[in-house]
Amino acid sequence: MSSLTITGVTKSFGTTRAVDDVTLHVPHGSFTTVLGPSGCGKTTLLRLIAGFLVPESGSIAFGDTVVAGDGVRSTPPQARRVGYVPQEGALFPHLDVAANIAFGLPKESRATTGGRDRVAEMLDLVELPADFRHRRPDELSGGQQQRVALARSLAPQPAVVLLDEPFSSLDASLRGSTSRAVRRALEATNTTALLVTHDQNEALSLADQVAVMRAGRLVQSAPPSEVYLSPSDPQVAEFVGRAVVLPGTAEDAHATCALGQVVLTEPASGPVSLMIRPEQVYVDLTHDAGVRGEVEEVSYYGHDCAVQVRLADGTPVLARMAGVLHPVPGDTVHLRVTGLVRAYRPAGSP
Ligand code: ATP
Repeated sequence: MSSLTITGVTKSFGTTRAVDDVTLHVPHGSFTTVLGPSGCGKTTLLRLIAGFLVPESGSIAFGDTVVAGDGVRSTPPQARRVGYVPQEGALFPHLDVAANIAFGLPKESRATTGGRDRVAEMLDLVELPADFRHRRPDELSGGQQQRVALARSLAPQPAVVLLDEPFSSLDASLRGSTSRAVRRALEATNTTALLVTHDQNEALSLADQVAVMRAGRLVQSAPPSEVYLSPSDPQVAEFVGRAVVLPGTAEDAHATCALGQVVLTEPASGPVSLMIRPEQVYVDLTHDAGVRGEVEEVSYYGHDCAVQVRLADGTPVLARMAGVLHPVPGDTVHLRVTGLVRAYRPAGSP
């Protein structure tokens, strides 16, 4: 295994800059998720790392070895030692699980004791029973197939594993258990991995580092909690979760806005846009402390609920609260902000 370093990589298709000057470092043995909307360049970035595409500028290195760019002849995909796990359909339907996993190993070792031991080790790693080795892919669930695809990619001990939306075809419950099993397998083998997804929950819950892409550019890369609580701009905030963005006026550590006075993550002054997560908005049902508003809509999810409130001045505010005791449309509530709030210069200001 080795680290992965992408430096100033650009790739265009005609007039479309699919990947635009992207710089990203994935430390050895760590897990990065690349999060972005459809068409932002995620798959193109993976294909550049795998060697299926060549960057027009910039460089890609595995550890100290440059595999593309910097005037170095591009290393072909088969020589890069990259494991690739696609969305679905990656397994050979006519081969059993053991043969699928062994396919990643050198031809001469597949039928040896060492090859068979490696297959058994990989099955164990992805938490599948040993007797699954004789099953064909159509005798496995979608989640089990993706675990076999991961086992195959890990069998030859790749430098880096790339996962392209590997859970997108799975239903919600299988998605959670499969992604956690994959995460454990990657951790156990200390594998450097990059997973692309447009699913915010997946990106935040799995990774050591989340890299957010927008229109070909990398707009933020940071640990999940930093991306969620301190997004680099309000658009990132709204992409990685629900956000209430309000205009306000800052003075040092505080700002005032339609929700009253809030405490800032960093001192600021003058006009700002304030980013407040809905779960930071405390909904008081019984007291009159806070800013008064009327409940317009409640979406009940069981464990929690989303409460849409209209303040007296007309400002809409979304709050998220526990589902145990919640208001109903038409109720009067009082809102106040808890925790720290991130302030941004309003769009268009110098
Ligand atoms: P999705 O989540 O929908 O898979 P993505 O973020 O992976 O999207 P890419 O597939 O990398 O996005 O595409 C980025 C941009 O490059 C898009 O505008 C796409 O139309 C364009 N693009 C990708 N591959 C090609 C190609 N081979 N030829 C022309 N344009 C391409």
